[in-house]
Amino acid sequence: MLNIILFGPPGAGKGTQSEKLIAKYNLVHLSTGEIFRNNIKAATELGILAKSFMDKGQLVTDDVTIKMLESEVNKSPDAKGFIFDGFPRTIPQANALDTFLTKRGQSLSALLSLEVNEPELRLRLAERAKSSGRPDDANPEVIQKRIDVYNNETLPLIKHFDAQGKYIAINGIGEINEISNILCSKIDELIVCG
Ligand code: ADP
Repeated sequence: MLNIILFGPPGAGKGTQSEKLIAKYNLVHLSTGEIFRNNIKAATELGILAKSFMDKGQLVTDDVTIKMLESEVNKSPDAKGFIFDGFPRTIPQANALDTFLTKRGQSLSALLSLEVNEPELRLRLAERAKSSGRPDDANPEVIQKRIDVYNNETLPLIKHFDAQGKYIAINGIGEINEISNILCSKIDELIVCG
């Protein structure tokens, strides 16, 4: 089993790289942001709740996010492994992930962290706003809030996973294919060592 967290600030390229990795390694991709957006489109109760946080650049509460993620994991009992994209984003979410994987007799393989500086992130998000239709990309104040939330609440996860020997840093600036090749070589090492 390969259970990977694809980690990084908003605009680091987690979604783009996940697409490539799921195809190559036959993993189930769970993007909490995408699941929330699908719920918003379908106007579910969860979507309406999530939207009130997302539009302001805030995190959806841990209890809601953790329940949703656990139910998504349970929908794929036969998965060969998961790519968690956008989860965990807080220490309680990281602890919850550890608990569900343990319940399934599994563990986390690694946290692959796409590292991109803030000026580049702001440029990428402003560019993505032109085509994504995402309200949280269109407003510079919301973008700044998401970056601040990342720095305050999510970045501390690096220390948490580094202490478990699971943190792998990847330079997230460069050609998309070049970055995927680096990610794949790290994953191949995990498989060999696995
Ligand atoms: P990005 O990484 O570009 O911010 P995402 O699609 O991953 O985009 O997330 C969009 C929004 O969805 C976040 O700003 C947040 O409001 C919400 N969200 C996504 N994942 C989580 C999570 N694990 N915990 C809480 N909120 C989340």
